[in-house]
Amino acid sequence: MAFRDLLNAAKQRIHEIDPADAEARLDDATFLDVREQDEYEQGTIPGAVFIPRGQLESQVENRLSDKDRPVVVYCAGGARSAFAADTLQQLGYQDVSSMAGGFGRWKNEGRAWVTPAVLSPEQRTRYHRHLLLPEIGEAGQQRLLESKVLLLGAGGLGSPAALYLAAAGVGTLGIVDMDVVDASNLQRQILHNVDRIGERKVDSAKKTLTQLNPDVDVVTYDVRLGADNILEIIDGYDVVVDGTDNFPTRYLLNDASLLARVPVVHGSIFRFEGQVTVFKPYEGPCYRCLLPEPPPPELAPSCAEAGVLGVLPGIIGSIQGLEAIKVLLDLGDPLVGRLLAYDALEETFRNFKVRRDPTCPACGPDAAPIVIAEYDDLCLPHATLADGSTTGH
Ligand SMILES: [Zn+2]
Repeated sequence: MAFRDLLNAAKQRIHEIDPADAEARLDDATFLDVREQDEYEQGTIPGAVFIPRGQLESQVENRLSDKDRPVVVYCAGGARSAFAADTLQQLGYQDVSSMAGGFGRWKNEGRAWVTPAVLSPEQRTRYHRHLLLPEIGEAGQQRLLESKVLLLGAGGLGSPAALYLAAAGVGTLGIVDMDVVDASNLQRQILHNVDRIGERKVDSAKKTLTQLNPDVDVVTYDVRLGADNILEIIDGYDVVVDGTDNFPTRYLLNDASLLARVPVVHGSIFRFEGQVTVFKPYEGPCYRCLLPEPPPPELAPSCAEAGVLGVLPGIIGSIQGLEAIKVLLDLGDPLVGRLLAYDALEETFRNFKVRRDPTCPACGPDAAPIVIAEYDDLCLPHATLADGSTTGH
């Protein structure tokens, strides 16, 4: 059987539409570009999913999981897409069309196309192990490069989270920290080193992260996070990784993140134990659903200096980094509505269900409007009044 016969046989089994009919389906169908990388890089239909013909069978079910959603397949001239459409039908896709004349005819007829953002050869090498995962691939890596994560603290939790997020290619990392590197930090804060003692932590962090991955834009905030600046600082970030060690900042962050609707990956450590959870505003519980009021100072060990095993923040901070990437890429099941508790001495992880509290003073349906207010150093919140004003200094 010659190529012509094969193509004609495939075309008998599939549905072909011309570019005008394809264009009318831009909103309700997924466009699938099955050409090669170099063809794709020179131009494609806006919003199209790109899977080269040779990788179609192995990748398509991960990339287009809804087999009932219509698919319009195209290549350069309409031959490869005919074979691809035939294959998709065999895989169970219910509504597949091949675009006659392909991208060439689409473009000649003056229809919209774009030059897609693509990874440079250096980036393709650096992120090779991500590209091998169909769940991430080139599109996911692009998304990471366009993502912005804000880290509160360049300390024990922030160090591993920042290092892994930078290595993974999260394009913008904001870091808030007003401290200076101290020799006693080096037991666990692996962003820093002996040469940096006495240096601003944000500057030390920026040096380390830029050396690890020059793709990453590190934005530093050498300030105390407060009611006066938090909304401005978190604006524009996709996720906040909270590595703070005190209740006042956690409440402040909780309220601001609800207002700005930014998910927070929360982590905390104490002695030999750690916890991680993800607060997704109005979808899962918030920090106040779990702890409506800060505990009294004598029961709030994190407000005072407590001991901590050096490797522990490496584990908890790394999980925070991982959860941040899952949120950014809509990957798997992030720890929304779940609290992961780690005990280093037992070497156990436990999952606890945590639920939204319908009476939550911050995210509940009857909650008063959120007021961004300062909390004093004793970890006691100033009362928030229904009229929006606050008490105290
Ligand atoms: Zn809540």
